[in-house]
Amino acid sequence: MTENKAAPSNGSILVVGGGISGLTTALEAAEVGYDVFLVEKNPYLGGRVAQLNKYFPKLCPPSCGLEINFRRIKDNPKISVFTHAEVEKVEGTPGSYEVAVKLRPRYVNENCTCCGDCEAACETEISSDFNFGMNKIKGAYLPFEMAFPARYVISPQIIGTEDAQKCKEACKYDAVDLEMEAESLNLRVGAIVWATGWEPYDATKIDNLGFGQYPNIITNMMMERLASPNGPTKGKITRPSDDKEPESIAFVQCAGSRDENYLPYCSYICCMASLKQATYIREAYPDAKVYIFYIDIRSPGQRYEKFYQTIKEDENVFLIKGKVAEVSEDPNTGNVTVVAENAVTGEKVKQTVEMAVLATGMQPTAATDKLPADLKYNEDGFIINDFEKGGMFAAGCANKPADVVSSNQNATGMALKAIQTLVKR
Ligand SMILES: Cc1cc2nc3c(=O)[nH]c(=O)nc-3n(C[C@H](O)[C@H](O)[C@H](O)COP(=O)(O)OP(=O)(O)OC[C@H]3O[C@@H](n4cnc5c(N)ncnc54)[C@H](O)[C@@H]3O)c2cc1C
Ligand code: SF4
Ligand code: SF4
Repeated sequence: MTENKAAPSNGSILVVGGGISGLTTALEAAEVGYDVFLVEKNPYLGGRVAQLNKYFPKLCPPSCGLEINFRRIKDNPKISVFTHAEVEKVEGTPGSYEVAVKLRPRYVNENCTCCGDCEAACETEISSDFNFGMNKIKGAYLPFEMAFPARYVISPQIIGTEDAQKCKEACKYDAVDLEMEAESLNLRVGAIVWATGWEPYDATKIDNLGFGQYPNIITNMMMERLASPNGPTKGKITRPSDDKEPESIAFVQCAGSRDENYLPYCSYICCMASLKQATYIREAYPDAKVYIFYIDIRSPGQRYEKFYQTIKEDENVFLIKGKVAEVSEDPNTGNVTVVAENAVTGEKVKQTVEMAVLATGMQPTAATDKLPADLKYNEDGFIINDFEKGGMFAAGCANKPADVVSSNQNATGMALKAIQTLVKR
């Protein structure tokens, strides 16, 4: 999968980022006959969607959508996938780019059968990034059950230790290669689509909302992992301080978003994400109360509005229009108090609940980590599509905050733009 099978050629397309947008661009271009190189920095494809429990509005698990795409990729010899890989340098002009890619070692080769013996042999535990540090995993691990490519990873944190040796000895398939080194790869492509996506906004920067200071104040992405059957609690939503099943929970909308001090823009999906997560709570705990504090509920389009209306009818869900001023936790009980001003009545509201979820927004990956290419960004770090110049395009959340449907539409459009660049040459 990660071998350079296709001959580098400038009649081909490079897609950077293997989230839902990058997968879509790569597949759309390859399925009309173009050679595509897909470069992903994680050891697996799927991006943030792989971390979600369910998709709104249908509430099906994202694994089904991803699995279909993984199958299409597997069946398509036009796509060469490089995971654990990053673009280091881009030179050239539309129609003819030279790209340097660096492949980081995974320390496990294609012989891996995912038998799990290395994991069993490894004693060192490391924090799980996939689960936002809410649990520990072994130093030899499969990123998640459905990971694609289905291949283990040996963490660089255990390289050079006795444990790494134990992993090697445990492997009956000669798949652990501790001598594996970083490799460089040069590609010549005609067009590039940047689908580098987003990062959850760092909620520790928002002083008044208590994240990082109190265990029972978590973020929306942490909630996705808590609710996921393959998450740190195997899908049981419990509060972090004492594993209690919450009887009440508050959602704090626009946590850091639409605020000049943090992210000035609306992240588009976090109202829908909280409405969706309210269904997780209500399904798991039929008597639990859910309080959603919002400035405006943004549920764009007919389907999302219908979803919102359904949640609104639930008598255990309370929607309070008011910007939250403070969230804090009582160290004795672990209970969390949310303070807001009710925008309708003007009253100060104080609601004590058993845990709180901050609906933090999306920040483009490129906001903190500029890409090694001549790209234009807006002031928030989203890549601006310069169609006049052409050649390089941004798809999905690299370009703007978006849900999966809009990301897919946008990514399909960018596949077409990339193809047009090649055809025009
Ligand atoms: C709490 C929450 C819940 C959500 N729930 C839903 C939902 O139910 N339904 C829905 O439609 N949407 C939902 N979303 C939105 C959804 O997550 C996004 O629409 C989706 O992730 C966009 O995909 P993307 O491919 O553009 O970005 P990403 O998913 O971020 O993928 C980008 C990929 O690029 C890779 N990458 C980044 N930089 C580089 C680099 N320099 N080199 C190589 N690779 C790189 C990343 O590792 C990643 O794999 C939710 C969002 C949040 C915050
Ligand atoms: S690296 Fe070897 S031991 Fe580990 S899962 Fe793969 S085949 Fe099994
Ligand atoms: S989607 Fe909702 S919670 Fe997110 S920033 Fe926009 S208004 Fe705020």
